[in-house]
Amino acid sequence: MFLTISTRGTAATPATDLGFLLHKNPGNAQTFSTSHGTAHVFYPEAEVERCTAALLLEVDPIALIRRGKGKGKGRGGAPDAALGQYVNDRPYAASSLLAVALGAVFSTALHGVCKARPERAAAPLPLRIEVPAVAAKGGPDLVRALFAPLGWDVTAEPVALDTEFPDWGDSRYVRLVLESEQLTLAEALRHLYVLLPVLDDAKHYWVSPDEVDKLLRAGEGWLPGHPEQRLITNRYLSRRWSLTRQAMERLELVRLAETDDSEVEDIDNAVEAEAEAEPRPTPLAVQRREAILAGLRESGAARVLDLGCGEGHLVRELLRDVRFTEITGVDVSARALAIAARRLKLDRMGERQASRVRLLQGSLTYTDKRLTGYDAAVLSEVIEHLDLPRLPALEYTVFGAARPRTVLVTTPNVEYNVRWETLPAGHVRHGDHRFEWTREEFRAWAAAVAERYGYTAELRPVGPDDPEVGPPTQLAVFHRDTTEQDKKEAKAA
Ligand code: SAH
Repeated sequence: MFLTISTRGTAATPATDLGFLLHKNPGNAQTFSTSHGTAHVFYPEAEVERCTAALLLEVDPIALIRRGKGKGKGRGGAPDAALGQYVNDRPYAASSLLAVALGAVFSTALHGVCKARPERAAAPLPLRIEVPAVAAKGGPDLVRALFAPLGWDVTAEPVALDTEFPDWGDSRYVRLVLESEQLTLAEALRHLYVLLPVLDDAKHYWVSPDEVDKLLRAGEGWLPGHPEQRLITNRYLSRRWSLTRQAMERLELVRLAETDDSEVEDIDNAVEAEAEAEPRPTPLAVQRREAILAGLRESGAARVLDLGCGEGHLVRELLRDVRFTEITGVDVSARALAIAARRLKLDRMGERQASRVRLLQGSLTYTDKRLTGYDAAVLSEVIEHLDLPRLPALEYTVFGAARPRTVLVTTPNVEYNVRWETLPAGHVRHGDHRFEWTREEFRAWAAAVAERYGYTAELRPVGPDDPEVGPPTQLAVFHRDTTEQDKKEAKAA
């Protein structure tokens, strides 16, 4: 994998300043070891008028496979799939791996820091970036759609599959040349850092939740408002829908600060809409909310608690249905609640709407009087965030003290994890999950809680119910009958 960065200069602004900006001396060839192989940086030319830095990444395909061990791909697959692990384009075509190396080798430059030449780091400079072979799913058109809005003159030529056999057509590789005089070096590097993996669109590395932060940091100043923002976010996060959604929502917040309301509504709608022409399943988070709403409607509840409401997605859905007359979101995180308040536009809501919704800060492991008097409570993807020894305290707060007639609890089904393409074996889905249960463990917990507090528990699958490993999410619907005591209290109220 190979990439060159060139600039032009004059005696006053020598092109060789590129060495300062990249923090790599043009006089030396340097070698760095990265997680996927060896990166070399050297300068094929270094003159006052013209200077070119080259980054060459020698990928170690064996190390790549060792690192990826335990992922779904190729495991128990056909022999050619197994061979495909060793014989593939990874060593040759610029892809996510080159972006990773770029981020590692030029990290200071990527952040725009240059103590020796701060004024040059901050100023646009004439740049020419060439990548002889870029893996580009979507072809030259997509390459242009991604780079042109950022101020690049784009040359993207398809590479023929085999020059000997022109009728075989083009490969999925493109020769890419980017030229601009309007961008700083840091901006240019950050464009490449995000857009090379986007073009590659391979799912070979584990996307962790902190990838969202990396994307937002590298995308600062250019990703919000990019016409292909959704595709970029989507592909960068390897189509993990919950992460894409999280990133889109945070980008939406950035825009909230910058744009007027009508535009924000449009982004909101776009988030709900389909990402690309390709069909895709309904995101699991959406299926989960639908299952919860169905459970609440069946129960006839009007006053609903969303316990561990996070950034308020469910609260927003509840507000859309007038049968829910009182909606209270509770979370321990003030930050999540601030985001929820902003997303819901609480401060700009009409009086009528505003009177239906409340956000409270509180911990579910302590009895809380404010939680009494509701018809139903939801714990959506919350219990697994508590240390197991704290769980009985939450059970008492909800089932013992607050005691709504209906309680809906969802949690991941750990058995399903083998079906997630990007999840390495033995990993939980979210860094903060303290545990994930099998169907049997959840069933046993639900039965014990129901027994202890006088409820019935019914279990329901959410998402595709796999014949072997069950559904990705499990839902327990708890009910208790109205007692004489309840009737008296209702009358008194
Ligand atoms: N219910 C939301 C968010 C789930 S994430 C959804 O389904 O998308 C879990 C949430 O539980 C986080 O917002 C976290 O702050 C909250 N949480 C974790 N422990 C808590 C506790 N002890 N009391 C209240 N909220 C808690």
